[in-house]
Amino acid sequence: MNLILLGAPGAGKGTQAEVICEKLGIPTISTGNMLRAAVKEGTEYGLKAKAAMDSGALVSDEIVIGILKDRIAQDDCKKGFILDGFPRTVPQAEALDAMGVRIDKVIELAVDEEVIKTRLTGRRVCLKCGATYHVTSKPPKTEGVCDVCGDPLVVRKDDEPATVIDRLKTYHEKTAPLKDYYEAQGKLVTVEGTDTVAGTSELMLKAIEG
Ligand code: ADP
Ligand code: ZN
Repeated sequence: MNLILLGAPGAGKGTQAEVICEKLGIPTISTGNMLRAAVKEGTEYGLKAKAAMDSGALVSDEIVIGILKDRIAQDDCKKGFILDGFPRTVPQAEALDAMGVRIDKVIELAVDEEVIKTRLTGRRVCLKCGATYHVTSKPPKTEGVCDVCGDPLVVRKDDEPATVIDRLKTYHEKTAPLKDYYEAQGKLVTVEGTDTVAGTSELMLKAIEG
């Protein structure tokens, strides 16, 4: 099963991807996480990607298509995969089609924009292990400290309020048109993303199976 999770930043794609990945036993591929890892390692494309990411813009199609292509060629993707944060532009979706990657379903997580702003600005992350928290809805056991590895939690640079506004604008301009793209292919299913994490993942699993 090859799935795409679509939705605005802060719709909960990453959180849901983790749940679904466990339930279906297929890996999640998050281009955002891969890019952040590259930035941390200081690889060549990491350096190129950093400025775009920090400002709420998108990294170039060329870079993300390249890393995605390498990733889905790996063995663990043979049974299927969940794409979280890719494609984010129509050219990226066209690239997937051109690679001959068969997509079964595209699940759009729909969340009200005010809710999204609260979610993003309250998000705290661990840069060491990638765990994510939220100051009100998913606080760590000890304030400011990662439950998993004990590292200090930080606000992602792109979760700062001004950048959140730019990311939403980028989403509307570049990514939202993918809804029409996949609707036209008969693959789009929209799921409300405002229930609890467990409630939403149940809705998503129904949408995937149905
Ligand atoms: P979000 O919380 O916005 O869903 P991600 O963790 O998926 O964030 O991505 C963080 C940033 O990485 C994006 O704002 C963008 O700059 C870059 N990025 C991730 N995936 C892509 C992609 N498919 N195309 C272009 N840029 C991407
Ligand atoms: Zn951690």
